Amino acid sequence: MDSSTMSSVNEGGGGGGGDGVPKGLQSGGGVLWGLHEGVPRCLKNTMEGVVVRRVIPSDNSCLFNAVGFVMEHDKYKAPDLRQVIAATVASDPEKYSEAFLGKPNGEYCAWIMDPEKWGGAIELSILADFYGREIAAYDIQTTRCDLYGQESKYPERVLLIYDGLHYDALAMSPADGAPEEFDQTIFAVRKDRTIGPIEELAMNLVREANRKRSFTDTANFSLRCGVCQIGVIGEKEAVEHAQATGHVNFQEYR
Ligand SMILES: [Zn+2]
Repeated sequence: MDSSTMSSVNEGGGGGGGDGVPKGLQSGGGVLWGLHEGVPRCLKNTMEGVVVRRVIPSDNSCLFNAVGFVMEHDKYKAPDLRQVIAATVASDPEKYSEAFLGKPNGEYCAWIMDPEKWGGAIELSILADFYGREIAAYDIQTTRCDLYGQESKYPERVLLIYDGLHYDALAMSPADGAPEEFDQTIFAVRKDRTIGPIEELAMNLVREANRKRSFTDTANFSLRCGVCQIGVIGEKEAVEHAQATGHVNFQEYR
């Protein structure tokens, strides 16, 4: 995100200097962040600031750690949140049936506790209910936003961005370059079920990432098996190769 995006946001804010955003943050360079400890953690959904992407480590638990960050400003929640999901699924075997999960309830619970396994739609939906907040997941390739917890009409929403393989967090920062501790990650949902102008800012960031093609097209990407070095195209062929050979270590190449 560049400074032109930032200034246009400030102009849209109607003069700037609104609730809680220190004036020093709007002037750009030379700001001593440590002096602004009075910034409230949860600002109102104002126009001041920029939507930024907060990078979450790629360690097979990015979905969980991204959720931990936007919900609790904690990037190390994956073990806890995997536990939450397993407990939720185990507690309701009728809802979380084999048809729903794609594997038997008990097997799924053991599987999701494995730190190597990736979460997806089922896990986001359970975590939205656990926190009582909507989770918006923006997909860079399609620029589509999937909203989890929508039917429960929760009063707040958090934002994630997905590149086909990896989840990062989206946050509202008072200015480009501001430390993460100033991030607002929870946004009030309005009567019209939007989060106001922040929704457009988030979509602009997603569209920009799409223009730069910063996503992985998992249907068509090229992978090489780390065991036998054979090349495969797309997730489907990789799964077939894994099932045929037991090889599960693939590297993407371009
Ligand atoms: Zn192989």
